[in-house]
Amino acid sequence: MSAALLEVRDLGISFGGVRAVDGISFDLHRGELLALIGPNGAGKSTTFNMVGGQLRASGGSVRMAEHDLIGMKPRAIWRLGVGRTFQIAATFASFTVAENVQMAVLSHHRQVFALWRPAADRFRAQALALLEQVGMRAQADRPCSELAYGDIKRVELAMALANDPRLLLMDEPTAGMAPRERNELMALTKRLVVERGMAVLFTEHSMDVVFAHADRVIVLARGKLIAEGTPEAIRNHPKVQEVYFGSGTTFEHLPQPAFAGRMSA
Ligand code: ADP
Ligand code: MG
Repeated sequence: MSAALLEVRDLGISFGGVRAVDGISFDLHRGELLALIGPNGAGKSTTFNMVGGQLRASGGSVRMAEHDLIGMKPRAIWRLGVGRTFQIAATFASFTVAENVQMAVLSHHRQVFALWRPAADRFRAQALALLEQVGMRAQADRPCSELAYGDIKRVELAMALANDPRLLLMDEPTAGMAPRERNELMALTKRLVVERGMAVLFTEHSMDVVFAHADRVIVLARGKLIAEGTPEAIRNHPKVQEVYFGSGTTFEHLPQPAFAGRMSA
């Protein structure tokens, strides 16, 4: 395999004496959809925040394309091509779908927000092309406030793509979605990973979704990376089954998480 896009080595951080992430190491390659799973409090979001620069690791390294991201500001990491989608929908409800994506395109081109109106048309074509990629072209001129939750997530994905990321971090991208929507969003994400040759690190609670779409899975428990492998290997991994269910249970018996019905802002 070619050199990894992202190399995480011995990454760790403590909060008040608690080792939230405890010396984890993993690689992420171009064209790969990597799932980071683990029980609540395992350290998944903390890991995302250290890679994205929102939190400063207390030890270890995060290397991407000759750069060590540790100590870099989130904005600088973003400029290197690390994008993020957030757990909470980040679109502006009163703006249209296309306007939201245009703002992201503008931001990528480092234009100031005040210049947005006059510059709008220049970037509309780019915004529409991105919306096409996520299957939202037909809804470009609707206000985001009218969209179904799953469609807002697609718009957020288009906004993240505006920065042309090499690496996209998606922390619980399908939170609040029904099972079918979850599968659709991750199938779309996998298609984009392949088409754009980018890499995605994502967290997801539904094991069905993880097993159906991830190329590879890494498992955190209490800050430690306890397993890594293909979905099939992880499904049958005794240590993983133990942290999720205690002994004697398997993923096959895991109920789907209830539909949370979370609404966007
Ligand atoms: P996950 O995303 O896997 O559910 P988190 O990364 O959010 O887990 O949290 C990992 C652990 O670190 C938890 O015990 C959590 O309480 C703790 N933690 C996370 N962020 C902070 C913080 N800013 N201050 C103190 N403790 C934190
Ligand atoms: Mg989390």
